Amino acid sequence: MSLLLRSTARNVLKYSAHPTLASNIGCQRIGCYRSFLNLFGKSKATHSEGGLFFPFSQSPFPAVRARGDAIRSLAPCPVCPSDGHAHKVNLSLVKYECPDCGWPSHCSKEHWEMDEEHNKYCSRLRQVNEDDHDLRSGRKMHEFQLPGPQAYEEAISFSNWDLFWYTRGFPSMDTERSRRHASKLLTYPLTIGSVLHQNSGLTLNNQRVTLEGSRSLAALRTILHVPPGAPDTEEAGVLKPQIRIFILGARAESSLPPHVWEQLCMLFPSCNFHLFFIGPQVSLPKQVNQPVPQSSSSPLSNTTQQTEVNAEEASEYVPNIYEPPTPKPIARLKRTRSSIQLYGVPSYTIPYSPQLTITGIQANYSEVHPQFQETFDPYTDAFFLFSPGFGFPSMASLSELDGKPLLQIASPSEWGAVVPAMLATRCAIFVTGFSPVDVERDIRSLEVAPDVMVGGCRF
Ligand SMILES: [Zn+2]
Ligand SMILES: [Zn+2]
Repeated sequence: MSLLLRSTARNVLKYSAHPTLASNIGCQRIGCYRSFLNLFGKSKATHSEGGLFFPFSQSPFPAVRARGDAIRSLAPCPVCPSDGHAHKVNLSLVKYECPDCGWPSHCSKEHWEMDEEHNKYCSRLRQVNEDDHDLRSGRKMHEFQLPGPQAYEEAISFSNWDLFWYTRGFPSMDTERSRRHASKLLTYPLTIGSVLHQNSGLTLNNQRVTLEGSRSLAALRTILHVPPGAPDTEEAGVLKPQIRIFILGARAESSLPPHVWEQLCMLFPSCNFHLFFIGPQVSLPKQVNQPVPQSSSSPLSNTTQQTEVNAEEASEYVPNIYEPPTPKPIARLKRTRSSIQLYGVPSYTIPYSPQLTITGIQANYSEVHPQFQETFDPYTDAFFLFSPGFGFPSMASLSELDGKPLLQIASPSEWGAVVPAMLATRCAIFVTGFSPVDVERDIRSLEVAPDVMVGGCRF
């Protein structure tokens, strides 16, 4: 069995979270942007791209204004504590909006002017502000026009996002903003695809995978690909078993439209996939009689090639502080059916295309593991956990010894029973983290995990 941990920067500040690509693209971009802006000091961010910049309180979009309200009601001023104002609790909330990035950032203009730290990330906040307004602008989002199947003689490259988009036939991504939008949309399917694919950048040679890890990947690739020289086409997969990807602790992953997940299938033309989103925060389909909110701002939002980013407008902003909220219900498609009879918990299945079936199960994985445990096969099945937070303290379980919160990996209400169950399947387990620090925290937590022999795992 192998436990592979890669560092990703999932959705923090909207940088690409692709494990292979983030280091190639994200870092370069950050470096360039900063050095350019540093030339201009405080008045830096005035080079806005036509009309996309608004202070949060003056945004034309209710969801952005609501986000600003939430920040103003929760965030303390970063300068107050060092300026002797810490005792004035109410005064220290951020009421002043930075004119450069538009975010509520300080209690007052005076403290904003005193703060040297804010300069370091103001330009990135400005980017997020403009990206959010761009997404809602109603323009035709060519970044979200996804290509169809790959011709079998055309190899796909995962060296960096640009090569991937080029070799997959995406519309050209001319601006950094387009690249951010597209990499954010594709981050989950491409993280999975770029790790499993035989052209993956994780190889024994560059030491990004261990011998044990490469054996697990080799087993999966005997099913994912065809023998060398054979055409990798849909017909070649007639007798192949289905590939099952179990995404545990799924949240936003489960609300991504199926046509975006279909991009994973198109990397493996001869495979049939069954994706399982399993976790207490899995998004379920809308009730049958619940009206589907129609977005008014984009004329193309009803087509299957558009994502549902605009649908967010209808809902209030929910602050994402410690435990992110369950995403909104997903659209109910023609063939969506309930699977509650099958799994005994709230769940659904969509046979989306001949190549792709999606099942969502809203429950802790340990509740449904017994139904799967006899069926696992390391050649066809793999687990993916996106930023599971193994090393974070549990919100629900306290240690009997000292009364302190257990780490989530040891907590019966979180990952305590799940990790040993996954390891017993002998299937590959892929875990990502927000940052290198996050990944290291998760790895260290394995040492205190019950029923997990760290000696059996390699990183
Ligand atoms: Zn202050
Ligand atoms: Zn700012």
